[in-house]
Amino acid sequence: MVKVTVNKAKCISSGDCVETAPKVFAFDENGKSEVVNPAGSEDRVILSAARSCPVKAITVVDEATGQQLFPPPKQ
Ligand code: SF4
Repeated sequence: MVKVTVNKAKCISSGDCVETAPKVFAFDENGKSEVVNPAGSEDRVILSAARSCPVKAITVVDEATGQQLFPPPKQ
């Protein structure tokens, strides 16, 4: 399982994440993406959605280990 969050301040409403994982992300009333069901898709689909975000507004963390999977933690 992964923990997924959207930084709405960064989101530019491109819609990529909603398109890639429509069960997980949806637009709120302001046209910003938000997580509606973190378990709505497989982890790899959620990761793919995070990678598709042009402004890296989506953060994915491995729930079991606490490790940040995306964006890759800064070295
Ligand atoms: S892909 Fe990124 S910028 Fe586009 S709607 Fe999703 S969170 Fe917002």
